[in-house]
Amino acid sequence: SSYHKVLEENRMLYNQVQDLKGTIRVYCRVRPFLQGQTNGQSTVDYIGENGNIMILNPLKQGKDARKVFSFNKVFGPTVSQGVSYSMELEQIYVDTQPLIRSVLDGFNVCIFAYGQTGSGKTYTMSGPDLTTEQTWGVNYRALRDLFQISKERADVVKYEVGVQMIEIYNEQLNGLNVPDASWVPVASTQDVLDLMRTGQKNRAVGATALNERSSRSHSILTIHVYGKELVSGSILKGCLHLVDLAGSERVDKSEAVGDRLKEAQHINKSLSALGDVISALAQKSAHIPYRNSKLTQVLQDSLGGQAKTLMFVHISPEVNSIGETVSALKFAERVASIELGAARSNK
Ligand code: ADP
Repeated sequence: SSYHKVLEENRMLYNQVQDLKGTIRVYCRVRPFLQGQTNGQSTVDYIGENGNIMILNPLKQGKDARKVFSFNKVFGPTVSQGVSYSMELEQIYVDTQPLIRSVLDGFNVCIFAYGQTGSGKTYTMSGPDLTTEQTWGVNYRALRDLFQISKERADVVKYEVGVQMIEIYNEQLNGLNVPDASWVPVASTQDVLDLMRTGQKNRAVGATALNERSSRSHSILTIHVYGKELVSGSILKGCLHLVDLAGSERVDKSEAVGDRLKEAQHINKSLSALGDVISALAQKSAHIPYRNSKLTQVLQDSLGGQAKTLMFVHISPEVNSIGETVSALKFAERVASIELGAARSNK
């Protein structure tokens, strides 16, 4: 019966999810050289098996020029967004999908995009073009899956889905889809696309300033799932935060003044607060410093405990980004190190 099918599917998912529970995973994604750019030297020397990436720093000599960083996975510049049937490419969404499914089983999940401006954060989360499904990012694939699976389970669990869009700019929280940042019920991917368009309009800036502004604010799309099991009456509550972080680049202190300096200080503060929270969780510290930034306060319920965290760290391959590349990879390695150490020794 469909009931048993769903139970069986749940059991399988549960096993996959057990692997991920309470752990912090970090995936590294390398952006390709952009069209129209002459393909200069890449700072990515080589991408190895098992999540290793070797960076070549042309400004350094000898053995200091090469450094290896280790993550759960590394996706090279030719990896595509979704599930394709070509075996040679490892696809971004294949490795994200089990987390999305677990939200419908009542887990809280956070997915972050981290990296300097222009490294591909928005490409991963939203995709370059909403009109072509092939290049959809994690956000829309996740929503499509959530609606699809909830439909498949309709005989067993009745689900309600709600969406909330917020932006954190200069440590201030703005609701984008609705002013009070409450969540709005949605029934289809189309509903969400419509809401996102409204959200974009509600950003308090014109179109030209939009890119600039979005690189200096954190944007969080939250999907709340509320499910009621029809036979037992028990309630499942899960939520998925999809977070496109502000650009991680350092602003030259001697150059930034006024608003720009203030923005930079807020960004630095909140990104380091995020790093501190995640690494405290990974080290199972007694005190987790959630209160140090708006970002970590907003996400508190979904970081730690039974929640699952995935961070995509993005890097640009150009030589002139080497400083930002190394600092992004260091940040991400710090966030991942403890759990990865444990995972390796189990192999
Ligand atoms: P960010 O959000 O980090 O500022 P974007 O996602 O806007 O960066 O990416 C910068 C540019 O690079 C965009 O033109 C985007 O389409 C392109 N880009 C990023 N990642 C990829 C990728 N994996 N494949 C092809 N183009 C990409």
